[in-house]
Amino acid sequence: MHDEGATARPKGPPVFLDRDGVICELRPDPISGELEGPIHVSDTMLVAGAAAALVRLRAAGATLVGVTNQPSAAKGIITLEEQEEIQAHVIELLHVEGVVLDRWELCPHHPVAILAALRVDCHCRKPRPGMLINAATELDLDLSSSYMIGDSDTDIEAGLAVGATTVILGAVDGHKRRHPERADAQRADLAAAVEFVLGHARDRNGPASH
Ligand SMILES: [Mg+2]
Ligand SMILES: [Zn+2]
Repeated sequence: MHDEGATARPKGPPVFLDRDGVICELRPDPISGELEGPIHVSDTMLVAGAAAALVRLRAAGATLVGVTNQPSAAKGIITLEEQEEIQAHVIELLHVEGVVLDRWELCPHHPVAILAALRVDCHCRKPRPGMLINAATELDLDLSSSYMIGDSDTDIEAGLAVGATTVILGAVDGHKRRHPERADAQRADLAAAVEFVLGHARDRNGPASH
């Protein structure tokens, strides 16, 4: 008999993560004043404690998938190249902190985009679940045991659509967070959400067999 648990990575659940407001700090939009994701590389920074929380999830064997709507280029606010530089910077900042996500899914579309090429009523833009479904197909993930962590109603709806257990972050409702009660759990930040996920997954799997 092989002891397959001896050296194998522990098996944890798939965890989908929104980017802005979860992993990356939000910034006030210069025009609307609303908190939005970064639109400059120089504005792009990780939420304090987020990388450490992801390291903890990774150590528990979770598969980490970033799922992020990025419509700024579609809206003509920044170029697609700038948008890609910001995403590359996020990946680099995480790498420096010792975290590499298993996959990123990014939706660059917007239904009323200024850029015609990105004016798509797509299946990937949250609240639609296309990014989660695509990642599940590519990585052979079990959606019924998955989690979705986000800070907006659209994150929660995308998670609910695939049967994920959902966690909404933050304490203050805003234009993107009107129905936190739709989520299975509410937590202050990613570190607290990760504690919830690990505890929930442990309870679901029953008493540890090892
Ligand atoms: Mg967000
Ligand atoms: Zn899309």
